[in-house]
Amino acid sequence: MTLHNSMHREQQSKALLEQAKGYAYEYADSVAQRNVFPSKQAVADLEQFVEDLPTTSGDATAILQQLHQYGSPATTAQTGGRYFGFVNGGILPVTLATKWLSDFWDQNTALYVMSPIASKLEEVCEGWLRQLFGLPDNTVAGFVSGTSSAILCGLAAARYRLLQNQGWDFNRQGHNGAPPLRIIAGRHTHGAVIKAIAMLGFGIDNIEWIEGDDQGRILPQQFPELDSSCIILLQAGNVNSGSFDPFDEICDSANRAGAWIHIDGAFGLWAGGTKRLKHLTKGIEKAHSWSVDGHKTLNTPYDSGILLCRDKEALVSALQATGAYLTSCYSENRDGMLYTPEMSRRARAVELWAALKYLGAEGVDQLVYGMHERALQFANELRVAGFGILNDVVFNQVIVSPADTDTETDRIMAAIQDSGECWVGGSVWQGKKVIRVSVCAWVTSPEDVRRSVQAFIRARETITEQ
Ligand SMILES: *Cc1c(COP(=O)(O)O)cnc(C)c1O
Repeated sequence: MTLHNSMHREQQSKALLEQAKGYAYEYADSVAQRNVFPSKQAVADLEQFVEDLPTTSGDATAILQQLHQYGSPATTAQTGGRYFGFVNGGILPVTLATKWLSDFWDQNTALYVMSPIASKLEEVCEGWLRQLFGLPDNTVAGFVSGTSSAILCGLAAARYRLLQNQGWDFNRQGHNGAPPLRIIAGRHTHGAVIKAIAMLGFGIDNIEWIEGDDQGRILPQQFPELDSSCIILLQAGNVNSGSFDPFDEICDSANRAGAWIHIDGAFGLWAGGTKRLKHLTKGIEKAHSWSVDGHKTLNTPYDSGILLCRDKEALVSALQATGAYLTSCYSENRDGMLYTPEMSRRARAVELWAALKYLGAEGVDQLVYGMHERALQFANELRVAGFGILNDVVFNQVIVSPADTDTETDRIMAAIQDSGECWVGGSVWQGKKVIRVSVCAWVTSPEDVRRSVQAFIRARETITEQ
């Protein structure tokens, strides 16, 4: 049989899909029980994948089987309720199901003519996000792979606009001889922002750093004199403490000076979509661009980042490099590629739409506030057990100091990870090694938190007994 014929048969019989479905269900049923991090055996078995590129075509059934047998056990159990590493989100059932369906569609969202449905859902999500976060009516959205990419877009738009205001067309004239722009960022700015600053050619050494307070919030009184050449980077959700910068105060003076404000709210911007935590994002609507992830707090599948920008002309011009006049020349309808660096892109707005349609404003509040409650529970139970909690738990992040020395902290963290009971990662806070807990999955229950706290306690016991 020719390869073409085999593929036709595979497409028509659905047997492969049934096989995949069986594996997927098996995985889903076991994920809450198994070790959160893969066992040593599972990691060693990854050698199964190391081989020369096959010369001849393979057997689809066997390929799926290999992936499930050796791949599934080597995943981290991120959907199981006791994964607290980085700020990795879980996945809402409705978004997983809609992703499954839309995988069959395999749409490209570059242009309306490539996918009217993807274009429509992007448009709907754009409006809903604007409403949810309380952003200006002229805010547009670009659907990108993640916040890292969204930040790049926001900063490119900022550069385009501030230079344009000075009579310099960045797309045509470039860096050489351009009027200098100033970059102002807090000491606790996320690495993804620093990376964007470097990639766009601003130079990390040129950043005007602003000190933070004990929670990592930027200190408004430390700001230098601002002017219309300034790009200011603020943060909704410090990756360690979860704290929020005082937007209201800073945005007012920045706007008076004609500066551009970008707010990185990869996971924290969702506080602005709640009733009970909205106070944390007071004043965000006074900024010019915002970056946020669907795949963190909102629990959509990977990968899903969003850039929101109130200056459509600057954003589209910066990303298309073909001039603002092209803004709506592709079609009457929304052409997604105008708002992103990529042309071809998967239809990630499908899952975003499903999440927002399913949750509604009240559901977003429950989801996000629930994470906050689990984080508070985590902190309280650890405190009772004698662990140091170094931050005010205002959102979903908890900074834990389990020991006096960095060496002991490392050993306790390793023991927690080895237990397989939960997974937490490390960080550095005020010069000291710490364990960082991020509650970022809807599925995490009070029982998951209790069980994880027990893993902390047992890890500390084993270390001190040695
Ligand atoms: C996760 C995170 C980023 C990077 O987002 P990606 O989606 O991983 O690219 C940027 N900023 C903050 C505050 C984050 O938490």
